[in-house]
Amino acid sequence: MSATPGRSNVDHLIVGAGFAGLAAAIKLDEAGERDFVVIEKDSDVGGTWHINTYPGAECDVPSQLYSYSFALNPHWSKVYSPQQEIWAYTRKVAEESGTLDRFVFDTAVLDARWEEGLQRWIVRTEGPDGVQEYAARTIISGSGGLSEPRLPEIEGIEDFQGAIFHSARWDHDVDLAGKRVAVIGTGASAIQLVPELQRVVGHMDVYQRTPNWVIPRNERSFSALERTVFEKVPGAQRALRSLVYATLEARVPAFARFPQLMRAVELQGRRNIAKGIRDPELRAKVTPDYRAGCKRILISNRWYPALDADNVDLVTEPITKITGDAIVTTDPATGATVERPVDVLVVATGFYVTEPPIAQHITGRAGRTLADVWDDGGMAAYKGTTIHGFPNLFQIVGPNTALGHSSMIFIIESQVRYVVEAAKAMRRAGLAVIEPTQAAQDAWTAEIRRRMRPTVWQTGGCASWYLDKFGNNTTLWPGQTFTFRHHLSRFDVDKYDVEADHHSTQREAVNA
Ligand code: NAP
Repeated sequence: MSATPGRSNVDHLIVGAGFAGLAAAIKLDEAGERDFVVIEKDSDVGGTWHINTYPGAECDVPSQLYSYSFALNPHWSKVYSPQQEIWAYTRKVAEESGTLDRFVFDTAVLDARWEEGLQRWIVRTEGPDGVQEYAARTIISGSGGLSEPRLPEIEGIEDFQGAIFHSARWDHDVDLAGKRVAVIGTGASAIQLVPELQRVVGHMDVYQRTPNWVIPRNERSFSALERTVFEKVPGAQRALRSLVYATLEARVPAFARFPQLMRAVELQGRRNIAKGIRDPELRAKVTPDYRAGCKRILISNRWYPALDADNVDLVTEPITKITGDAIVTTDPATGATVERPVDVLVVATGFYVTEPPIAQHITGRAGRTLADVWDDGGMAAYKGTTIHGFPNLFQIVGPNTALGHSSMIFIIESQVRYVVEAAKAMRRAGLAVIEPTQAAQDAWTAEIRRRMRPTVWQTGGCASWYLDKFGNNTTLWPGQTFTFRHHLSRFDVDKYDVEADHHSTQREAVNA
């Protein structure tokens, strides 16, 4: 293909340098697919683990499983790793992989457009050196399912005069000591940061819309002996990893088939409440009225004691507006309004998940953006990875690949393997274009919807970010992770429409 001035040709353009993008870079490199570039809007690798620096940020998946299978880390300090340690791990893996020379940091993808005639994606990026254009054979998007903060739409929020920031964009310059702080949200991020804040703030109001089931966290540090064993005894760490994996997988039937088994989790949750909170009225406020597992099950030993502390109030009346220096709630039963003054407002209100913003920037065949296509019927992708109408696009952590019970890194590695197999198959067969057929994608989606029906996410009686505007769960994988891996274990080209390379055909004709 002739080069266009200012445009770089690459085989693969990887979006994001988090766990997904990094794994894709490493595994493509190992497979000899070395002509790639990784575009990362942040200043370093690590993705969510580089960006989420809120106090108390830790992983709620055990460390032994929250790492790549090809880069075990015998040095984890605790059963559940802190953010900084996970980020340092990704940095080390990246450095040792020898792929960092192809990472471009502080650079965002502006848009990507499928160019039929070229059989390539034309991708525009913007970074310190201005706008750059790439012509890429494939795009491998590892842009993250939980990366775009969702700010609450509350009247007057833009008029708030104090410091305000999202949990995923923590402002470390704001001193919270002695301040009146408000936290909106009681999800996975809030339950980690609230206990940390409680120790330093003057007063904190925690605004809860829906309580979550929170069970105890079996937290402890690994001893020096354990770490030596992980490092020196062949197979020891892998055996523990397998045990953790199997233990987590054993929970799947309760999520996917028999939600009534979740009563055992609810019992644990109630005991956790009773242990952490003295006041019966507060206990009642934090007790969910839906089946455990319907929303993500959270783990913490410190959440309830923090809510019980003298300098913390849990507010459950709906927020009606925010003024320059206060939050106003209205009691729906009595109509009584209360105004609570605030110096610093932390919004721990989650992310855009079922309408990922990156989809607005990707234009496939027929000039339609991925956002337009998904707006019609919800997110859908063949095997959670490839999308009809968007040739040569691979979405890591795509529709119905997320988990509520185990490590996303297992899923990411499964998808990356599929991508690498696809790249190898394309090269072997001289294919320039692969695109899943509509029939294959529809059959995959129909099967997911069928399996979703009895799950706790559909039947548990809650509203959650797992569900889209149509009420469909387009985020989670409804089964064991090994079945997902099995489905993606080989690249099934028979489910794809394919095109040979026009340009090599033209070249052959010229050379003949
Ligand atoms: P989240 O689970 O979506 O929680 C958002 C919270 O904000 C919910 O309590 C929600 O209430 C509340 N909220 C949203 N809009 C609101 C509004 N307008 N007014 C009042 N309250 C509002 O977000 P997150 O806590 O950031 O966690 C997101 C996901 O990130 C987690 O589920 C998990 O997958 C991941 N995460 C993982 C870890 C880890 O340890 N590995 C840590 C943090 C996050 P409703 O429940 O009523 O919607």
